[in-house]
Amino acid sequence: MKHPKEERTLVIIKPDGVQRGLIGEIVKRYEGLGLKLVGLKMLVPDPAHVEAHYTLDPEWRKVTGEKTIKSYREKGLTPPSEDPLEITAKILANLKKYLTAGPVIAMVWEGAHAVKIVRKITGGTEPLTSDVGTIRGDYVLDSYTMADADNRAVRNLIHASGSAGEAEAEIAHWFKPGELTDYRIIHEEILYDVNLDGILE
Ligand code: GDP
Ligand code: MG
Repeated sequence: MKHPKEERTLVIIKPDGVQRGLIGEIVKRYEGLGLKLVGLKMLVPDPAHVEAHYTLDPEWRKVTGEKTIKSYREKGLTPPSEDPLEITAKILANLKKYLTAGPVIAMVWEGAHAVKIVRKITGGTEPLTSDVGTIRGDYVLDSYTMADADNRAVRNLIHASGSAGEAEAEIAHWFKPGELTDYRIIHEEILYDVNLDGILE
């Protein structure tokens, strides 16, 4: 089994994040945690690549549709359809428009509990309810209500893998093995060394 410090996760800074001038700020947050950047590139993804990304999990259409219907009900609203797949088709069409609107930054971050710790500091999916202090909570104000009214995807600056399994599939979808770099970074000695005995002379 791999040590938790070797966990990797995929982060995409979406076109709105790039346009808002937040690349540096976002990178700084993950870097500040002590995570190690092992892959980075800018690209304009095409619609097929975006669709494949969201449907790497064959259950995604069903699960996301059902989750969306449930969240409408919880807010006392009538969902636009009772068919989860019809709902996700709309979400997916809007996500394709959103993610292909301009350049994105794709990154792979490595470190202890990378998936969970990145999700935590990134904040919840809907910026309106993302916690204060998270990247989405601090830097963006969109909501599902507004996105639905304008028939577009919610603009939440970032994509971050939801689980270790998702991360593995997503990293392989966005990066070729040769585009990722294995290396040591000095601060790992402080974060992970068992005895912390290399400091004093
Ligand atoms: P993430 O992993 O935090 O990005 O969230 P999901 O994987 O659950 O959803 C992926 C994308 O689907 C989100 O970024 C949203 O654009 C969209 N989405 C998810 N849930 C809803 C919802 O309840 N309403 C709307 N309009 N879009 C949603
Ligand atoms: Mg997700």
